[in-house]
Amino acid sequence: MVERTLSIVKPDGVMRNLIGEVIGRLEGEGLKIVAMKMIHMNKAQAKGFYKVHEGKPFFESVTDFMSSGPCVVIILEGENVIARYREIMGATNYKDAAEGTIRRDFATDIEKNVVHGSDSLENADIEINYFFNALEIH
Ligand code: ADP
Ligand code: MG
Repeated sequence: MVERTLSIVKPDGVMRNLIGEVIGRLEGEGLKIVAMKMIHMNKAQAKGFYKVHEGKPFFESVTDFMSSGPCVVIILEGENVIARYREIMGATNYKDAAEGTIRRDFATDIEKNVVHGSDSLENADIEINYFFNALEIH
């Protein structure tokens, strides 16, 4: 099934000049970019984005982190792209991430893990609509 997923180069990735590295890996794996922009979320916007994690011990910290600097938000489209991109991204904790994944190669911390990726069709749809309107998707 052709799906869309939301990818984010998080503030640590932008700050460390990893935007090109991440995009290069996505395109290198044949994933298609259909929308992309740079944004800087405020704390309330970061809380809205990570609403599913409200109440968890890392919620305050991760929303501080996500609002600490600009991010690049990207929509990827393709066959089975949600799972394919999660595989390229690697596990949440870079220490558990497989060799050659973005997080294994670049993350410095369980929180500062360089990239985001949607985890399901339902959440991909919610996350895409959080950042993009129809005119921005190509
Ligand atoms: P993923 O980004 O792999 O889907 P989650 O949705 O579980 O992971 O968590 C969202 C983000 O919150 C993670 O990418 C990471 O930045 C941060 N995070 C998750 N778990 C922890 C934790 N135990 N401690 C600190 N930060 C965490
Ligand atoms: Mg998640």
